[in-house]
Amino acid sequence: MKDSRSTSIFDGPYYLSIAGKLVATDAHFDVFNPATGEVFAKAPSGSPEQLEAAIAAAKGAFKTWSVLSYDQRQSYLDAYADALLEHRDELARLLTLEQGKPLKTMAEPEVDQAISWIRQIAARRIPVEIVEENDNHIVELHHTPLGVVGAITPWNFPVLLALWKVAPALITGNTMVIKPSPFTPLTTLRFGQIAQSVLPAGVLSVVSGGNELGPQMTAHPDIAKISFTGSTETGKHVIRSAAGTVKRLTMEMGGNDAAIVMPDADWQAIIPQLYWGAVGNSGQWCVGIKRLYVHSSYRNEFVAAFVEYARQQVMGDGLDPNVTVGPVQNKMQYDKVRSFLDDIKANGYKVVLGGEVDESRPGYFIPVTVVDNPPESSMIVQQEQFGPIVPIIAYDDVDDVVARANDSPFGLGGSVWGRDTQAAVAVANRLETGMVWVNEIHTQGIDIPFGGHKQSGIGTEHGHEGRLLFTNPKTVLIKK
Ligand code: NAD
Repeated sequence: MKDSRSTSIFDGPYYLSIAGKLVATDAHFDVFNPATGEVFAKAPSGSPEQLEAAIAAAKGAFKTWSVLSYDQRQSYLDAYADALLEHRDELARLLTLEQGKPLKTMAEPEVDQAISWIRQIAARRIPVEIVEENDNHIVELHHTPLGVVGAITPWNFPVLLALWKVAPALITGNTMVIKPSPFTPLTTLRFGQIAQSVLPAGVLSVVSGGNELGPQMTAHPDIAKISFTGSTETGKHVIRSAAGTVKRLTMEMGGNDAAIVMPDADWQAIIPQLYWGAVGNSGQWCVGIKRLYVHSSYRNEFVAAFVEYARQQVMGDGLDPNVTVGPVQNKMQYDKVRSFLDDIKANGYKVVLGGEVDESRPGYFIPVTVVDNPPESSMIVQQEQFGPIVPIIAYDDVDDVVARANDSPFGLGGSVWGRDTQAAVAVANRLETGMVWVNEIHTQGIDIPFGGHKQSGIGTEHGHEGRLLFTNPKTVLIKK
């Protein structure tokens, strides 16, 4: 493995990656630095014809890629991880510029995790299973690749969430076309460009452009599966559109995760974990803590200590090494998060930190805001804020708080915190979510399934279950 890391700064121009080539476009769109609110780059705006060409190239490449052995595909993916590692510093810096997240604590770990996952996933196999054997016949279960997978990704973790899709899709023999979020296209275009130097033409293409490219992918007859990460609202459009061609779908969508801090919790000790679980990535985390339930016996002291911890953090431009909390990623989200602040103010909920946006400050900065015990029916408790506002909600009775946590159309993740692990696990087992952490949060791994219940998702990423979803089960019955 090479470790000759490039420290150079990549300053464009950016190209689409189609059929192994870097492709220029007639049109471009602006990419904003959320720390300044200013345009810092132009991204290529792919046309419908260019997306069509990428899908056609992926379909062509599938013929040869899908028949390679796992070991051959692993060699390619390892080479891709090596190539990405050479550009690690450059990718992390670009991620901070386009997304806003702090370089050292968020952007570099995101790029590192993505590279490491490619290598780890490339080493996994889906073997043929013998499901029945008797004197008459043998029955084998194979898992064959689907064809072209379309990846549609959001702007909160643009590198990690896209490469989470690339590695399992490719190792199982599929080819892929990625459409990144128009808010954060650059890192994806860049790792797409890097892919062209190591992967066979057409295996991985990247086409950036407006939201209209999404429906073209979801309705396309030559795309076998859509792997989508984004909001539940957009996800419903994807599901409807994909029905026409009976596509396979993995849908990772919105959430409103509850953290339940049990009556016996050592709550002083876990405040940093709870704070970062809620405010990490400026709260723009699908599995971020969006409702923090604490027992009323220590609520006042908890709120004071949480606010004290929050005051020690520095908000600003993620390239500044002292900064621990960055801006919200884009103007649309900034306005959305502000509408939560407006609602909090209009209803007179108790704000114990933040609450007021500094209008004179450039960039999309929303101060970390802590709301003390808003009602269960309030907008900040019921809806996904996806920003740095933390409602801390008191409860008296564990059964009641479980019911409140479950009373949501979402079911993505959750966490339970307590000294008595068994009691905490018993509560965790009652949460209607795809993932629940007990006395830890946001631990992930390539063998740990990740996905939502209810309107938070369909299917799973990671784990054997997630990898299977990039394949069709195929039963082969052979008479002896
Ligand atoms: P979004 O739904 O606005 O956009 C996601 C992607 O869908 C973008 O690439 C966008 O261009 C594309 N798109 C838009 N309209 C489309 C259409 N009609 N058809 C197909 N594609 C279309 O989401 P976002 O604002 O980028 O991301 C934030 C949301 O994503 C939050 O709700 C968050 O909870 C969710 N999210 C979920 C997970 C998870 O794993 N469950 C992870 C990260 C983010």
